[in-house]
Amino acid sequence: MSTTILALLLTMPFLLLGAVETAPNNPLVVILMGPPASGKGTQAVRLSKELNILHLSTGDLLRDNIKRQTDLGKKAKGYIDAGQLVPDELVLSILFDRMEQSDARKGVLLDGFPRTVAQAKALDKYFTNEKVVIINLKVPDEVIIRRSTGRLTCQACGAICNSYFSPPAKEGICDKCGGQLMQRTDDKLETVQNRLKVYYDQTQPVLEYYKDKVIQIDGNRAPDAVFQDLRHAVQ
Ligand code: ADP
Repeated sequence: MSTTILALLLTMPFLLLGAVETAPNNPLVVILMGPPASGKGTQAVRLSKELNILHLSTGDLLRDNIKRQTDLGKKAKGYIDAGQLVPDELVLSILFDRMEQSDARKGVLLDGFPRTVAQAKALDKYFTNEKVVIINLKVPDEVIIRRSTGRLTCQACGAICNSYFSPPAKEGICDKCGGQLMQRTDDKLETVQNRLKVYYDQTQPVLEYYKDKVIQIDGNRAPDAVFQDLRHAVQ
């Protein structure tokens, strides 16, 4: 065999390996917690872009399944509309499936997960050498109720506004794209109150489970101020 061919054969595996995207040794995992409508979603989009990691919202994953009328979506819909948590096994399967995809290897920002101690324990088992940062956004109940019941989402572009704090120029119409603004079915007053109760009963214990690992941030401020603190927390 000529030395050129031999050299090529020897370097081939390394050339191939170089072409495959390799994951960092200690990918960053940010767990963003907080009561419903604490601003997790808005901050998660911005922070995940800044950190160049994948934003994973279990609420969005579930709503996407409902929209596509998958079996899982059909099972989850009733719980969500009633302001209850979707059973752990459904949420775990949907989340871990998504985390197996290659874009999750560089790191993830988890928004709305874990919401029960069982979910937190499952996550502990799933992770091995990741660097995990746990953040909780604190917002008083009365603010949560106004934020949720006033929240409107554009059906076309997904932009979010609020009928109390940032009303659209024309009622029911998205300022950004002219699409139709809708209230989420689980943002009705009664459901929001239920979600808050569920939060205190089932998600507050997760904060106790993580104890002093949790970085507390005051979420009852302008989004930019909250974001600066979040950036600080992950550095
Ligand atoms: P919010 O943060 O405003 O409550 P989300 O979009 O995170 O909204 O969640 C909406 C709903 O989806 C929840 O009320 C719950 O029914 C369901 N859900 C989302 N994440 C989870 C989870 N980790 N475990 C169980 N249910 C979940």
